[in-house]
Amino acid sequence: MTDKQFQAVMDDVHALRKKWFPILGLNQWRNIPIVFRRDCSSDKENSMAEVAVSWEYRHGTIFIYGPKWFEYMSASEYHFVHECCHFLVAEMRCWGPPTVPSEDYERRVQHEERVVTDLAMAFLRARKSK
Ligand SMILES: [Zn+2]
Repeated sequence: MTDKQFQAVMDDVHALRKKWFPILGLNQWRNIPIVFRRDCSSDKENSMAEVAVSWEYRHGTIFIYGPKWFEYMSASEYHFVHECCHFLVAEMRCWGPPTVPSEDYERRVQHEERVVTDLAMAFLRARKSK
């Protein structure tokens, strides 16, 4: 990706952070840096972003994969809010056994994805209905 495209991704994400972190309460977490990558995810090549959350310390990191973010930037607000919603529900992963077979882990992730998808869409609808 070009420098101009990468800058457009960073500008887009910074604007979304400024808008959505206060709404979602994430500005009250200790620290949530955003790491911008110029490459795609090594294991999920279509992923626009992913998060690593240490909910117990109210800390985490958002990883933005520049090429995919730029490709789908017209829908970036939904995707940004979706990633932020993972911070809000990450604590739920602690329920159940700490280690589970991989197929059970995948099911856990599917449930979380469905929940954060619905939450993100609800937040966007609520915001637009103001
Ligand atoms: Zn997700």
